Amino acid sequence: MKIAVLPGDGIGPEVMEQAVKVLQAVSGQGFEIELQYAAIGGAGYDAAGDPLPAATLKLARAADAILLGAVGGFKYDSLPRPMRPEQGLLRIRKELNLFANLRPAQLYPELADASTLKPEVVAGLDLMIVRELTSDLYFGQPRGIHVNADGEREGYNTMRYTESEVRRVAHIGLQIAMKRNKKLCSVEKANVLETSELWREVVIETAKQYPEVELSHMYVDNAAMQLVRNPKQFDVILTGNIFGDILSDEASMLTGSIGMLGSASLDQNRKGMYEPIHGSAPDIAGKDAANPLATILSAAMMLRYTFAHDALADRIENAVRKTISAGLRTADIHTPGTTRIGCAAMGDAVVAAL
Ligand code: NAD
Repeated sequence: MKIAVLPGDGIGPEVMEQAVKVLQAVSGQGFEIELQYAAIGGAGYDAAGDPLPAATLKLARAADAILLGAVGGFKYDSLPRPMRPEQGLLRIRKELNLFANLRPAQLYPELADASTLKPEVVAGLDLMIVRELTSDLYFGQPRGIHVNADGEREGYNTMRYTESEVRRVAHIGLQIAMKRNKKLCSVEKANVLETSELWREVVIETAKQYPEVELSHMYVDNAAMQLVRNPKQFDVILTGNIFGDILSDEASMLTGSIGMLGSASLDQNRKGMYEPIHGSAPDIAGKDAANPLATILSAAMMLRYTFAHDALADRIENAVRKTISAGLRTADIHTPGTTRIGCAAMGDAVVAAL
């Protein structure tokens, strides 16, 4: 299994080192890995004058999966936009046609205090948002700002989905539901938008191929409310690009701990790029203070969704759970009565728990 490892900037290399330790610890148990490193983001700009160097893209194309740390840093903020680290990330997603974004929101009961919501509402939360990533209002044409017939400036964007775009992401959502608790809630705004009407029809059609999955539908405004009222009612949420952008950030904040959440972006063949949802955290970079668990959990997602090694993914997730239960905490999730450790020690603790 060829994995392209793109550590990136800031805490990226530190958290990546821990995830690699964990992958190496499970390697050889029916899973032989070949890791190939390349630069992306600011590191790509420094090495090759481009946040997505040609060599990195070539390596990513040839790999079965990509594991990414994080990109960005103050020293790159004054570069022209195409040279900024974040552009490397947007470009690689587009180049590889990664159209399905998986954002789990999971909260271990021991970390329930980290949430701004009442512990009983969020403790044990475990939901997955599947967001379409390459279409919808963000890409629809026509778009622009023009002067209208009244001589007033007017901005406009177009919400668009084709049947095939909805169908392929619906398949991914339904397949993920099959691997979880077999419940899928499709979120749209079919009471107002034609795009959503079509979305709903195609999801219903596609779901017929997955009779075991319990399908429901919810309007996005209600979903936003239900996520803070009773988030544990959800298993998998399937939604479009703009609604998913908003709901996935809302869901991640239910857990209150940005250092704990991984993510995946998949293509048609289940090739994927796996990355923590946090950024490069320049404020703590180089201090051995970052929480590597989001990246370690991203590596577990890679085993589950690209390589279909569910048992190994379970082992890594259980090792993380055990480490948390043992009271080991990086600074971001540390509370009185628990033991504060650094980034490398957290990586070692997960390997020991494995
Ligand atoms: P950030 O996620 O880097 O940091 C936000 C806060 O969370 C900081 O206080 C940071 O110390 C803390 N934090 C983040 N990850 C942590 C971890 N693993 N362990 C402990 N604490 C952690 O977001 P930001 O500060 O808005 O952005 C910093 C840089 O990262 C910017 O250049 C931004 O563009 C970039 N960024 C990159 C990505 C990405 O690579 N996917 C995502 C978001 C932001």
